[in-house]
Amino acid sequence: MPVPEHSSPAPTARDAGPAGAPQPPPPASTELSAFLATLPEVELHLHLLGAASVDTVLDLARRHPPSAVPVEREELARFYAFRDFARFIDVYAAVNALVRRPGDIAALVTGLGRSLAAVGVRYAEVTVTPLSHLAQGIAPQDLADALTEGRAAVRERDGVELARVFDVAGELGPEPAWDALGWVLRYRPEGTVGFGLGGPEVGVGRAQFARHFAVARDAGLHSLPHAGETTGPATVWSALRDLGAERIGHGITTVSDPRLLDHLAEHRIALEVCPTSNLRTGAVPDLADHPLPRLLQAGVPVALSSGDLGMFDTDLAREYRVATDVLGLRPSDLAHLARTAVEVSYCPEPLRSALLAAVDDTLPPGDRS
Ligand SMILES: [Zn+2]
Repeated sequence: MPVPEHSSPAPTARDAGPAGAPQPPPPASTELSAFLATLPEVELHLHLLGAASVDTVLDLARRHPPSAVPVEREELARFYAFRDFARFIDVYAAVNALVRRPGDIAALVTGLGRSLAAVGVRYAEVTVTPLSHLAQGIAPQDLADALTEGRAAVRERDGVELARVFDVAGELGPEPAWDALGWVLRYRPEGTVGFGLGGPEVGVGRAQFARHFAVARDAGLHSLPHAGETTGPATVWSALRDLGAERIGHGITTVSDPRLLDHLAEHRIALEVCPTSNLRTGAVPDLADHPLPRLLQAGVPVALSSGDLGMFDTDLAREYRVATDVLGLRPSDLAHLARTAVEVSYCPEPLRSALLAAVDDTLPPGDRS
C-alpha cells in the first residue's frame, strides 16, 4: 500500500483502513525525508517471514497454489489487516506454509535485502525461526545453505550486511526449543549472532527456557528474547534474570515500572521498539500514546525497528517519521536513535565504526559523541 508524499494534516492513528484496521500516519515533510535519506540505518528487530514484502508473498502464493494466502495484491492487503495479536499469529502461519523449498527461503532473504536497501538500511539483524521452515520439509542443511547464499547475494547486490538471530516460538514449549537450538549450534550459518524467543507471551513464561539460553550463551550466542510486548514488566524482569537478556524485543510495558526503567538505563540494555507493529497487533491502541518518548526520557537505550515490515506495511524510514510526526521527536533525536541502534548491535568492524561516523555527520557539531 504505497503512501503518497503530501503536506496535508496527518490523519490520526484512529483512522481506519479498508478493513477497519488502524492506520499509522503518512510520511511527513520532504525536509524530513531528505534528512532520513542521509541517515544510515540499522535494523535490529526484523522477522524474515513477517518482513516479506507484498511482492515476495504474492510470488510465494503464486508458486504454491492453492493456499490460504490471496494471490491478488488488494486481497492480500485486506488479508494483512490485523486487529489483534491472535489474528496476526494466524496470518503469520498461513504465510509460513508457503515457504516449502530452499528457493523460497532464498526469495525471502533477497526480497528483504531489496526492501532494506530501498530505505537506506546498511546492517540488519534478522530473526529466523528454523523450526517453522524445517516443519515445512526443508532439509536442515538446505535451510542453512539457502540463508548463507541469500545473505551473500544481498551483500553483493544491495550492499546490506545481514546478521541472524535464530529464535523459537515459545508456545511450542521447552522440548522443541532444544531442537531449534540444536539446529543453530550444528549448522550455525555465517552471520549468526543470537538466540531469541518469540510467539505469544501470554501463558508462555520465559523461565522455562532458562537452560536453553544458558547453553546458547555458552556457545557464544547473544540472548535476544521478546518480552514485555503483550504482558507486563514482570516478563521483562524474567527475561533479564532467567535468560540473561542482552536486548529485549519490544519491552514497551517496561514503561510502567520505574525500577525496571532505571535498571535498563543503568545497564544499557536496549529495547527494540517497533511502534507500527505495536499498533497493528493492538499492543498499543493509539500511536499517539506510544511509550517511546517516555522510555527515552528515562534514559533507556532504544533501537527503533520495524518488526514485520511487510505484514505491517511499514519500514524503518516510516518508523522514524512516526517518531517525529506523532511522538514529537526532533531530527537530532532520530540521529541519536540511529546511533544507539549501531551501539547496541553486533555489527562487526569496520562497518560499525563507519556507521557511527556517518550517523555523527548528521548531528550538529556540538551534539556529536
Ligand atoms: Zn518480533
